[in-house]
Amino acid sequence: MEMNESYINQIVQSVIKNLENAEPTGDRKLKGVFTNMSDALNAVQEAYLFYKSYSVEQREKMISNIRKLTLQEAEIMAKMGVEETGMGRVSDKIIKHQLVANKTPGTEDLTTQAITGDDGLTLVEMAPYGVIGSITPSTNPSETVICNSIGMIAGGNGVVFNPHPNACKVANYAVDLVNRAIIEAGGPENLVVSVYKPTMDSSKEMMASPIVRMLVATGGPGVVRTLLSSGKKAIGAGAGNPPVIVDDTADIAKAAKDIIAGASFDNNLPCIAEKECFAFANIADELITNMTQNGAYFLNAAQAEQLKGIALVEKDGKYSINKKWVGKDAGLFLKELGINSDARLIICETDELHPFVQVEMMMPILPIVRVNNIQEAIKMAVKAEHGNRHTAHIHSKNIDNLTAFAKAVETTIFVKNAPSYAGIGAGGEGYTTFTIAGPTGEGLTAAHSFTRARRCVMVDGLRIV
Ligand code: NAD
Repeated sequence: MEMNESYINQIVQSVIKNLENAEPTGDRKLKGVFTNMSDALNAVQEAYLFYKSYSVEQREKMISNIRKLTLQEAEIMAKMGVEETGMGRVSDKIIKHQLVANKTPGTEDLTTQAITGDDGLTLVEMAPYGVIGSITPSTNPSETVICNSIGMIAGGNGVVFNPHPNACKVANYAVDLVNRAIIEAGGPENLVVSVYKPTMDSSKEMMASPIVRMLVATGGPGVVRTLLSSGKKAIGAGAGNPPVIVDDTADIAKAAKDIIAGASFDNNLPCIAEKECFAFANIADELITNMTQNGAYFLNAAQAEQLKGIALVEKDGKYSINKKWVGKDAGLFLKELGINSDARLIICETDELHPFVQVEMMMPILPIVRVNNIQEAIKMAVKAEHGNRHTAHIHSKNIDNLTAFAKAVETTIFVKNAPSYAGIGAGGEGYTTFTIAGPTGEGLTAAHSFTRARRCVMVDGLRIV
């Protein structure tokens, strides 16, 4: 049957209605989704013990089926995600799911080390942790569930998710999808599990359970701090606030297009998206003109001040995001300002200390700060990145400028002359991930990040030279 727009809308509505009404039991049970954490933990432990006997070939069979179903149901999950969270863009979320399906590494990511010498042969093999507890964000809910599932299963693990409560319907849809794919490919039931209504309590229970041998946090600073103080091995993938520098050697027209494409992608929800721009003063006007010709709407100072009152909340001189505006379309902000436009991105000029620059907004609003030289640009960009060591971008043809910024900012991802998403394999070389571990240093996580090294020593034998 052809998957036309109205047919997909019908499916999304019916899935959401079912998820709202259905208890995770009975005919409509979502596979792998449990009423309480304790049942979920016992089920995944049982599945993991069974899964230990599976061959790498069997793991791959399951993973390729997850890829296949993700591609088939990308549009359904994209629509569900936008409908449930009220954030992001359906067309961009489809691309994110496709990226996860096509470019998340599988078992090929695992390598064995062999050391031979006069004393024989030593092998270092990458082994599973066991059951991994994973907390996922509202900004990429189903994408993170599927991406982490592929990497963790490839590593031989089972997974229990405690998804963001505001995005748990679509996250649990993804858990169900992963289970359907695994079972169809001959894998065990409940290798990937979740709770129907995740809470802080279910999260605490998951973290404290002896069944869970490793924890992975994908989200803001709060969750990363909590997991890192759990006393268990933990991977922390935390917040970013990526700056982009444009110097006067850049191809300005291309830089403008690339920055709009990256900063407006999924309405700026991705943690890697350009969130503030430092432009050399001698090209700033040209950059702004090119941006307005390619899908950006420029606000004057008075309009930008008005927008500040909408997008941010002020308390005791400190600004934080107005959560109800996160991930909304640029057109909705503009409508509040009395402007009718279908621009993808709002731009304005600000000074360096403006909250649009310093706060991680996750809205399609890009402040532009004029700078006099590369030293000033780097100093401001490093400050705006807040030591997250997450992601930074630059448009330049000057090797010294490219190198100096990369060295100073020390980010996990550094993109030169491309939209931000090139850094996670969309239009750039390399694999993708939706769990980018800056704080704990794994970088772009993949199957190898979810394994532990085990050494096996044979003395005086098995060496062949
Ligand atoms: P969030 O921090 O509000 O929530 C993330 C998850 O953590 C949710 O499941 C939430 O329920 C849980 N959580 C929050 N505080 C917790 C605590 N104290 N203890 C236990 N669990 C807790 O993040 P969000 O708004 O859903 O996502 C956006 C944030 O995540 C941004 O800061 C973004 O930069 C970051 N992010 C980072 C990556 C990465 O790979 N580094 C990927 C996506 C999002």
